[in-house]
Amino acid sequence: MKKLEEKLLQAAEELGFDNYRIIDTMAISFEERFRMYCEMNYCGNYDKNYSCPPACGEAKELERKAKQFERALVLQTITPVKNILDDEETKGIKHRHNQMTWSLIEGMKEDLKEYLPAMAGPCQICSPCAMELGKACPFPKKRASCLSAFCVKVDALAEYCEIPYYCEGEVAFFSILFFHNK
Ligand code: SF4
Repeated sequence: MKKLEEKLLQAAEELGFDNYRIIDTMAISFEERFRMYCEMNYCGNYDKNYSCPPACGEAKELERKAKQFERALVLQTITPVKNILDDEETKGIKHRHNQMTWSLIEGMKEDLKEYLPAMAGPCQICSPCAMELGKACPFPKKRASCLSAFCVKVDALAEYCEIPYYCEGEVAFFSILFFHNK
């Protein structure tokens, strides 16, 4: 029987991720000060999505949750983009990346007893997020916060994994699946 980590890497390959690595969670840098970028609200989701700050919890709290898992599957897609500043275009690509990540999780559910995903961007299950309508989240178990909310230092992560961070004419998205290797 294949070991869990081999199965995860094989699933990542089969789903078409461009890069995938399994590393120790302790190798990931979390920088609490990055939370100020969420507060600047360039993405427009601050206080509008249950998966985003402040509703998702303090940066240290998310870091603590991630560090309860000793291993991390880092997933990356690299996609050609016409205009990286075109929000609609990159949103679609990001959505595809996150769907691929959820497909991997779905396919590995029997092997993964406990896990914690960190996605490329906010939860997009409902449109708009029920938070904007003042309603409760209908899928609290399915929502996941983004790497920014976790305050992951993504450039350092890419360097550690020896995968690209910036790609000219392309957009690189990252997600992380924290898991126990048991
Ligand atoms: S599942 Fe829906 S309500 Fe819950 S965080 Fe995601 S978008 Fe918001």
